[in-house]
Amino acid sequence: MPIRMPEPDRTIMARSVEIAKALRRLAPGARVIDHPDELRPYECDGLTAYRQPPMLVVLPQTAEEVSRILAWCHAESVKVVPRGSGTSLSGGALPLADCVLLSLARFNRILSIDYEDRLAVVQPGVTNLAVTQAVEHRGFYYAPDPSSQIACSIGGNVAENSGGVHCLKYGLTTNNVLGIELVLMSGEIVRLGGPALDSPGLDLLGLLVGSEGLLGVVTEVTVRILRKPETARALLIGFGTVDAAGACVAAIISRGIIPAGMEMMDRIAIHAAEAFVGAGYPLDVEALLIVELDGPEAECSHLLGEVERIATANGATEIRVSVDEAQRYLFWAGRKAAFPAVGRVSPDYYCMDGTIPRRRLPEVLARISGLSEHYGLAVANVFHAGDGNLHPLILYDASIPGELDKAEAFGADILRLCVEVGGVLTGEHGVGVEKRDLMPEMFSETDLDQQRRVKFAFDPKQLLNPGKVFPTLHRCAELGRIHIHHGAVPFPDLPRF
Ligand SMILES: Cc1cc2nc3c(=O)[nH]c(=O)nc-3n(C[C@H](O)[C@H](O)[C@H](O)COP(=O)(O)OP(=O)(O)OC[C@H]3O[C@@H](n4cnc5c(N)ncnc54)[C@H](O)[C@@H]3O)c2cc1C
Repeated sequence: MPIRMPEPDRTIMARSVEIAKALRRLAPGARVIDHPDELRPYECDGLTAYRQPPMLVVLPQTAEEVSRILAWCHAESVKVVPRGSGTSLSGGALPLADCVLLSLARFNRILSIDYEDRLAVVQPGVTNLAVTQAVEHRGFYYAPDPSSQIACSIGGNVAENSGGVHCLKYGLTTNNVLGIELVLMSGEIVRLGGPALDSPGLDLLGLLVGSEGLLGVVTEVTVRILRKPETARALLIGFGTVDAAGACVAAIISRGIIPAGMEMMDRIAIHAAEAFVGAGYPLDVEALLIVELDGPEAECSHLLGEVERIATANGATEIRVSVDEAQRYLFWAGRKAAFPAVGRVSPDYYCMDGTIPRRRLPEVLARISGLSEHYGLAVANVFHAGDGNLHPLILYDASIPGELDKAEAFGADILRLCVEVGGVLTGEHGVGVEKRDLMPEMFSETDLDQQRRVKFAFDPKQLLNPGKVFPTLHRCAELGRIHIHHGAVPFPDLPRF
């Protein structure tokens, strides 16, 4: 389904040679890409259904270069789309035909590590996993662990407030970032937060984390590093029904136990993962939970016993407890590789991301299965059960005309369902372009207007990552959120596209 993006400004596109020259002059250390063949790799992110090569790509190396580039683009009204590693699943880094794509790939250095204060200062292009790799020899790690951690950048994690398996206990990116350096669209360089646990004034750092590249370009990040727990043990628990697994998740949390991670996979996901990595998963179950407990040895073994009891009471048909680190990694290997594994059993899949109250898990999974029958498309569920963060993977074949549209309609119904049961449109992948037009399902006209005003305060000319997060106004009108009286459109100051 074609997605409506802001109309490209032909006068800007006609100036692309001049703009490339200006970028080279402003940032002599930066690499500027303008050849159509070399622009191709940047035409999409992880949401590959939408593609658009940018007008130009620039790869600066310092905050000062970013500042000069943004200030010039601001003065010349040129749009800028920031990009980390391009793994976003919501189209957050999708370029526009008239934009400069600003890649942070060359900001790839770890600047300092302070074990006493338990923090690391890193550039935004450093991959998530590289932070842990830099500190693990001293027994430390960086807790948020998206499944894409081998590739995704810390800057992208900040922009999307990314999560992962261990965020149930240790918090999302927002709980693990202490400070950032940010370049505003005007070119001004600002610092928010810092090495201390709190900073004076409004919590602008909290606002920036998860702002999807709409408010500024992150050029440095101070992250919290944690001591590796003394022990970590994982349980692999099989169930005859998805309902029973969902009930077990709710029972564990309501007992007051917060596992380090609690993930669920359904039959399709289990079989795909097992065929891919051979993790030894049981194949005669309908749902599998992986529950990890960590901490001091005594606490861990006590909680293991508790979780085993709860699982048995909730009808578990199989329970295995990891005996060593190799087995614990094996339990996780299938889960961590579940997305690519599903990619092997279907020509294409569409990964959704919505969050629901945990207690509604069984009902929501049953309704997703009903929608799957309605649309005639299979769905594999593999998700952060402890957080109620669902990731239904809708299987389809893009070469069959109309199947992508069907998959998108199915996905939109899933997200509406999440909102209907008291949840939210996204858990960790962001709104981007993917969920942009569903925003009025969740937010009132007033809510959206307030959010837009925050964006205006940072970027009054709407040049930074335009077309993302905020719904097109025609969509708001369709959904009855905008009342047009005698032809007078509300919010006349907002850009229309
Ligand atoms: C196989 C797979 C598994 C995944 N698993 C998870 C998961 O478990 N949890 C999870 O949360 N996500 C997951 N993701 C999604 C994705 O990896 C995350 O959203 C990640 O944080 C994106 O980082 P990136 O560097 O690739 O950012 P990009 O895709 O390049 O950009 C994402 C957004 O951030 C903005 N941005 C990037 N860098 C900056 C910067 N320096 N300053 C300002 N804005 C910036 C971009 O404009 C864009 O809006 C997965 C993706 C894939 C492909």
